[in-house]
Order: sequence, then C-alpha cells, then structure tokens
Amino acid sequence: MTSLPAPEIRAIDREHIWHPYASLTQPLPTYVVRRAHGCTLELDDGRTLIDGMASWWCAIHGYNVPALNAAVANQLADMAHVMFGGIVHEPAARLAQHLVALTPPGLDKVFLCDSGSVSVEVAIKMALQYWQAQGRPAKHRLLSLRGGYHGDTFAAMSVCDPVTGMHHLFADAMPRQLFAETPRCTFDAAWEDQYIADFEHQISAHAHALAAVILEPIVQGAGGMRFYAPEFLRRVRALCDRHDVLLIADEIATGFGRTGKLFACEWAGISPDILCLGKALTGGYLTLAATLCSEKISTGICTGEAGVFMHGPTFMGNPLACAVANASIELLLASPWQERIAAIETQLREELEPCRAHAGVADVRVLGAIGVIEMKEPVDVAVLQRELVKRGIWLRPFGKLVYLMPPYVITREELGRITATLRELLGGL
Ligand SMILES: *Cc1c(COP(=O)(O)O)cnc(C)c1O
Repeated sequence: MTSLPAPEIRAIDREHIWHPYASLTQPLPTYVVRRAHGCTLELDDGRTLIDGMASWWCAIHGYNVPALNAAVANQLADMAHVMFGGIVHEPAARLAQHLVALTPPGLDKVFLCDSGSVSVEVAIKMALQYWQAQGRPAKHRLLSLRGGYHGDTFAAMSVCDPVTGMHHLFADAMPRQLFAETPRCTFDAAWEDQYIADFEHQISAHAHALAAVILEPIVQGAGGMRFYAPEFLRRVRALCDRHDVLLIADEIATGFGRTGKLFACEWAGISPDILCLGKALTGGYLTLAATLCSEKISTGICTGEAGVFMHGPTFMGNPLACAVANASIELLLASPWQERIAAIETQLREELEPCRAHAGVADVRVLGAIGVIEMKEPVDVAVLQRELVKRGIWLRPFGKLVYLMPPYVITREELGRITATLRELLGGL
C-alpha cells in the first residue's frame, strides 16, 4: 500500500469530505494525524500533540493500548461480524453481563446499537412502545432540560436544547417536546426547592402526555458543560415516580468514570428506567452504544400489540466492538481509576483556577476528569486551536467553552503542560 502525502490528503479533504458541524465552502483547518499512542497524537510532519479531550471523551485509556489492540486482533481471528438476528456470541454475552453488573440496580435488559444518537432513539422508542402497550398512547411526548445534548438524529435532536440545537431549522420535521429550565444549582450548591420548581411545574402540568423525562445526569455536556446538584436528580426521580413518567438517563458522556463515579446516577443513588451508554464504552476504539432498561419496561413492551421491540440495526452487537468494550471495561476496573480521576480533578482545580483572574473568563469549573473554562465571549476555534497546536496541545473548544476531558492515563506533566498553555493563551484573549 502506498501512502498518500499529507498535501494530497488535505486536498482531498478540502474537496470532498464533511467534518462534524462543518462548512464545505468556508472550511476550518484540519490536521493530518498519522498515528496516536498514549496521550499523544502524531501529525504528518512529525509534530506531536498532547490530547486533552480523549477524542470527544472516548479514549479513556489513551491510544494504541496493548490490551485493547489484542482484544480486537483476537476477535478478528474468530470473526469480525455476524448478524444478530437469531445469533448470539460470547463477546455480546460477556458485555451484557458486565453492563448489567456495573450499572445502577434494576437495569437488566441490554439493547446493543451503533452510536450514542441511536441509543437515544432506541430509549425514546422503548418509552413510547411501553406506554402504547399499557393502553396509554397519549403518553408520547418527552420532557427534557434546556442546555441538554442527546445527539444528532431526529428524535435525539428534538430533546436537545432548542436554541443551540437550532430547532427552527427542522421545526416541521421534528417531534415537538417539552423543556424545563436548565438546573440552576451548581454541583455542590446548598439545596433550595426553587431549583426544581420549573421542572415540577412542567411534569405535573403535562404528565398525561409525557412518556418520559430524558436528561444527562449531573453533567450537561455538549449543550454547555454545566454541572448540577445530585439532589436535583433525586427530585426528578421522585417526581417521575409520582407522575407516572419514565426516566431516561443519558450517560453517553458521563459513563465509565468521567465524573468520578462509574456512572453519574450514583451521585444521587438513583436508577433510571432506561439508560443510554456510548462514547467511552469501547475505550474509543470502535463505535458501539447500549440502551439498558428494567424488566418492567421490557415486559411492558413485549406484552403490547407489537409483541416485540421494533428496532434492529444491521451491525447490532458487532463482535469486534463488543470484544474491545469488554477489554476496555476490564482494563478500567483493574486500574486505580478512582485515584487517577481524583488526581486529575485536584490538578485541574489548582491549575485552572488562576484563569478566573483573566478579564475574558466568566467561570472555571471542575468535576472529576472534566475541566471547563467558560469565556465571556465565543472563542475563535480556528485561531485558538492553531495557537494550541503550535504549543503541542490538542483541544477543541466550542462556543464560549474551552474544556479538557483527558484520557484517565494522562500524566501529571502532560496535564500540567495543557493547563500552563491555557493560562498563557487565555491571558491574551
Ligand atoms: C455524544 C453524545 C451523544 C451522541 O452520541 P453519538 O455517538 O455522537 O451519536 C448523546 N448524548 C450525549 C450526552 C453525548 O455526549
């Protein structure tokens, strides 16, 4: 195989390739990565970058991880893929066993799918089919939180923040959902009942029409990188029970340790009825997601008119993805992940806090292995990224947010270089 020179890769890219949320007429610069190992991305010209965001929060063990490489290679020798209709295999069975054991109590049934957005579609479909089967088809709407993000497919998009999700562009094609205000309580705020007032109003006014509440527990990610109090989540659980509304927890970003707990629901000690997992599920190796539900939901669906759950992706339960997910989970559990995340949290607090003194900075917040600097004005992503890359750092800010979500294996020195660079650069903004 001959390799394409970098200028040729760039030319093809400019001419033909869409990037996430990108323009093809006014494209932002892209960087050609040749390989990655540890927490390092290596560019075509040999420069190396320390990765501060784990490839959108997925690569929790870093890159080119021997145990994960071996899991893929071993599985490849047996089979890369086989259909899941009428067939099961060890990687899927082991993964289901892991997920049921590790997730909050009561989530016993596992639906494996391709990506986070699809797992949200599946969760919403489960909730709708459940109420259909109960003879209550009027319960088909969703209540979500402003500032939320749940993915880019249509049903998932319908429960994203209406403003940042640009709902007006798709208004006629998208189901209309209900929204409660974004939680105003910070993670460690002293609780006041007013924090839940708007949510309580929405759920009690619309319970007859609501299939489920969907939210990201504790951390609202791509919709604004906000952290809120566990008590808010406990109140939501209690209100869902009181008003006979299901609770869908989207842990696609928070799952597998990111907030300091294995799953963010643990901060509140609650179990949702339906749980979405993705992103770090395979340690960033392959695309895979899962939607778990309780037996109440699965039995409810299967005793309804359809008799089955109406979903079944072609690549459902892909053996390579399941095998690497198992290896990633086992590697995580065998590692001192709590200590690592606590150390990242302490270092981020110490080293990002001074940024608060900069005139352009509105807020600095840290939870687990998540560090956020919120600016007063939107940052110029291309300019900031160019300056970061010059200094050997890879981050991808969005809007007013400059944030870190490093691999858990990042060293103190690597993380220190990222935070020092941010202190230097943000002083100039
Ligand atoms: C990333 C994300 C999704 C969407 O996952 P994709 O794999 O990008 O489809 C959904 N919900 C949350 C909370 C996410 O962070």
